[in-house]
Amino acid sequence: MSQTLQDAYSELLRERGLALPGPPPGPKVDAAILLLASEAYKSSGYSGDLASFLQSKQGGFGVDFMQAVADRVKESGLGHQFELDAARKRVEAAVSLARYRLSDEVFVGEFPTRSFNAQATRVGPGFLVLINSGLFSFVHTATKIFSLSVEFADFGPDGRHIPSTRTGRSDFSEDEKQEAMTELILAYLLYGDARKATRFAFQHPRKMNAAGAMCDACVLFAVAHEYGHVIGGHLGSARSKTAQTPVGPLDVLEKSYKQEFEADGLGARLVVLSAGRLENNKLVFGVDAQHWIDIDTTLSGPLLFLRLDRLVTRVASEICGTDEFLMYGDHPPSDARISVVRTMYAQFGLTELRKLSSFCVEWIDAMEEGVLGFVRSNLPRIRQRFQSALGH
Ligand SMILES: [Zn+2]
Repeated sequence: MSQTLQDAYSELLRERGLALPGPPPGPKVDAAILLLASEAYKSSGYSGDLASFLQSKQGGFGVDFMQAVADRVKESGLGHQFELDAARKRVEAAVSLARYRLSDEVFVGEFPTRSFNAQATRVGPGFLVLINSGLFSFVHTATKIFSLSVEFADFGPDGRHIPSTRTGRSDFSEDEKQEAMTELILAYLLYGDARKATRFAFQHPRKMNAAGAMCDACVLFAVAHEYGHVIGGHLGSARSKTAQTPVGPLDVLEKSYKQEFEADGLGARLVVLSAGRLENNKLVFGVDAQHWIDIDTTLSGPLLFLRLDRLVTRVASEICGTDEFLMYGDHPPSDARISVVRTMYAQFGLTELRKLSSFCVEWIDAMEEGVLGFVRSNLPRIRQRFQSALGH
């Protein structure tokens, strides 16, 4: 990564008066990790001591995991640059696998504002892909609610789940998951901060890992979509327009629906390529049962992301009393975008997976009417809050 591009990113943040959260002091990192581990230990019913719990399969953390968490917090503090660097590496590997050419260097950076979207902008030395911090907190909580509402099990070599490895009953009832999702969306829309919604603790490391992997998959797609704009050459030809962000206007590049669909298709292609494994110079899918799970998780990212986008947009339209309300600027409706993604998956023959990617869409759709029903029956109160949040 050239220093000048990264400098341009730092300069942009400085201009806007934005700062990323720095790393906490060392002892705090260790204390945070220990707390996480001991919470899991307490709720596990494990009879041995904490140290052997961490090593055990049931603990699921292991020393490597703890070290990785510690490194991550030390390196990128409480911000998300660590995740973005990982996503950029995966996307760039997929770009070279597909033999796409990037016309210039790309830097992917966190944009510390609370809204739920991403944007690409042209600066002197290259392209900046800016992923809003709000996207992380929103997707993080949404995948957590998903993970807490479903059961997980290991898959055997025959591809069937092993009943004895099930995580046990789900932590959330139907009503609770709907309530949690409604609260999350309203926290985001009314206060611009998904973190204002109730925080939930994981009782099981497997659920935590699954939510983390799905969250990473959503972020991967957000980054891959912006690369799609770069690869598609949309940023060179597009007219600049000014987008309103919580920290003032930002010049972004105006794109057409056609370009958005193209970016979704290219983004989905990069996501698929990043999920394959190279063996003897050939890209293969599903080398073993675990690989199928990883593929399915990765491919669930774009679908989950677009479905969440649709649910938030529908709630926002309900509050504003208009269908014109488009949360994410110039992006086309999510149904059409999802079908572009599915078409791309089908081109790789990846239609019948372990169904996580289909299931997460059904999971959101199943609660859509309930969420909207709650909003409708509390509309005057919610509208009032929304107006005051907008400063009217
Ligand atoms: Zn776009």
